Amino acid sequence: MPGRNVVPRLINDRYEVGETIGRGGMATVHVGRDLRLGRRVAIKVLRPELARDATFHERFKREAQSVAALNHHSIVSVYDTGEILARTDEGVDRPFIVMEYVPGRTLRELIHEDAVTPRDAVDITLGVLDALEYSHRAGIVHRDIKPANVIMTPERQVKVMDFGIARAVEDTSPALTQAQTVLGTAQYLSPEQARGESVDARSDLYSTACVLFEMLTGRAPFVGESSVDIAAQHVRDRPPAPSEVDPRIGHRVDEFMARALAKDPSARFQDAGQMRRALRELRPAVPDDLEATQPLRAVPGRDEDTKTLPPVPVPVLAAAARPETDGAAAAGPGAPPPAVPADPAGHGSVPARRRRHPLRTALLALLALALLAVLGIVALQWVQSQRSGPALVAVPYVAGMDASVAETALRNAQLVPEREEVFDDEVPEGDVVGTDPAADTQVAEGTTVVLDVSRGPAEVEVPGDLAGRPEDDVREALESAGLEAGSTRPANSSWVPRGMVVATDPAAGTTVPSGSEVQLVVSTGRVTVPQLVGLSRQQAVAALGADEVRLSAEVVTTPQDGVRPGQVVDQSVDAGQSAPQGSTVTLTVAVAPEPEPAPEPTPSPTPSPSPEETQEPEETQEPTEDAQDQGDSAEEASEDEQRAAEQAREARERSAEQAREDEERAAEQARENEERAAEREARRDE
Ligand code: ATP
Ligand code: MG
Repeated sequence: MPGRNVVPRLINDRYEVGETIGRGGMATVHVGRDLRLGRRVAIKVLRPELARDATFHERFKREAQSVAALNHHSIVSVYDTGEILARTDEGVDRPFIVMEYVPGRTLRELIHEDAVTPRDAVDITLGVLDALEYSHRAGIVHRDIKPANVIMTPERQVKVMDFGIARAVEDTSPALTQAQTVLGTAQYLSPEQARGESVDARSDLYSTACVLFEMLTGRAPFVGESSVDIAAQHVRDRPPAPSEVDPRIGHRVDEFMARALAKDPSARFQDAGQMRRALRELRPAVPDDLEATQPLRAVPGRDEDTKTLPPVPVPVLAAAARPETDGAAAAGPGAPPPAVPADPAGHGSVPARRRRHPLRTALLALLALALLAVLGIVALQWVQSQRSGPALVAVPYVAGMDASVAETALRNAQLVPEREEVFDDEVPEGDVVGTDPAADTQVAEGTTVVLDVSRGPAEVEVPGDLAGRPEDDVREALESAGLEAGSTRPANSSWVPRGMVVATDPAAGTTVPSGSEVQLVVSTGRVTVPQLVGLSRQQAVAALGADEVRLSAEVVTTPQDGVRPGQVVDQSVDAGQSAPQGSTVTLTVAVAPEPEPAPEPTPSPTPSPSPEETQEPEETQEPTEDAQDQGDSAEEASEDEQRAAEQAREARERSAEQAREDEERAAEQARENEERAAEREARRDE
């Protein structure tokens, strides 16, 4: 069902979800924004197919709980957790974690780019050990230390994240152990993890040593084509000395590594502090030279996702000594198989075997053969468990395709597409951003493949309530909303003080693509004077007092022929020109000219002007229409003058009141700004 598993744009009315920044074995990570605190966050949302699985659900929750208790500069902070409730009955609730957004690159990326010098490798490892020393003291074992879980910020600060399978050490009966699976990432698994045994802090130290090994040499200590093969090597094989892989690495590093990668936890460094001190002593002996980083043989791991594996049987040698007739039969009929072909990919652990001394006794050779046979069985069982029924197919590469074309491609590959809509700044709306599992992953026929279909860039609303605020505040508010604060342009305003923001363009409330530029309209402290000439005096005074003008009126009269008395014939500031806010505009209002002294006028009782000031002169029977009655007109003129003076006074009073209001408003604004600044200061101090 299209859109069923769409991550909503807004979670809990608080977190705005932006584009996808990463994808791991169990979750999708989005960049986001905490609207309440106005800060950027990373939001990790459990993949829908995993969210259906109670074990993973548990694992995810535990990650959040254990990490939320940790507060260390080298550990990615967890701010909040919750669940996105399914919108339909078929949907699943998807747990999410809101965490500190860490800019930078993961160690995995840096290693693949050959961007880590040996000295960097040591420094990064010191940072990881610092984080582990803290978390171990808090009783939390990470259990999944690997390059993808370490981010290096642009300021070269190391941040460890994903205490994904971390669990309080005392928690001894987890569902995972009961499920007889090992959880972790093959290249960095400790031998005890690979065997499915209980682990302690020293397991993290082993994994850290694997990461250091990879940073120094460009390859993990054990490499192989399958996770099972690699896991078995951790249990069984001596790791190569770093200098065997790269002769430029000194023997002191070899000694350190031999201890750090000891199979027996009691032979390793016993805690992170001890390992850190030993490494620090070693630091001067490690070259800080990019030349020295070129690995002889970079072996990028193929399979670096955290996953479940069958445990490697314990102990391997004892298992090999037992008569394993059933197993041998399963591995291959007849004689004990040479074992290697039983490996699913047919590669086996050749580098490890090549290292074996050629002059070992026949007994040892036999033992080794038996051992390999057992491994073959394990591998075969694993392959069978993976296959259990349908054949494997590779997920086709569909990124960039139109979504419906991609769906057809997946169906043709015997897979079940499921659309998920995601925001993406680059991929056009309706096209595929990627799949999950990723292209080329081998999956069973009939597997559901999530098709991430672009919705285009995320849309955001231009924030409101910005009028009257200082430019810096408004820029910050816009950037917090995921918008770019652009250039400014001046505009007149009746009340926004000079230099403060009048409005934005596009206006508040408009929905625009995230990252769009928004212009700021900044007050000149002046106001545009409207057209007043031609209006009646009352209309003109009202027009000046209007909210969008707020100017004061002063009325002077002038005797004028051919114009209706009471009509504005001049304004001191022309229409369309600007005047300082709250200033006074002088209106010149026509009155009938003085009567000619000669003919004695006959008083006429009618018509008389309406005393109602609210009446528009146009609507009133104007006395000018009976213009022969000059005396009356003269009287009217003086009445008119009186009225004008009265109105001028009123207008002045009104504008004084307005000025007071404006002042109050400005003072209030200033107070608010101060408070906001203090708040910001406090947050920064935190
Ligand atoms: P696994 O599921 O096995 O732990 P992973 O570590 O590769 O695999 P995630 O932990 O889901 O996967 O993270 C995926 C990617 O998202 C990371 O590699 C990283 O690039 C990015 N990422 C995760 N958390 C953050 C964060 N807090 N800030 C910035 N980027 C992050
Ligand atoms: Mg991770």
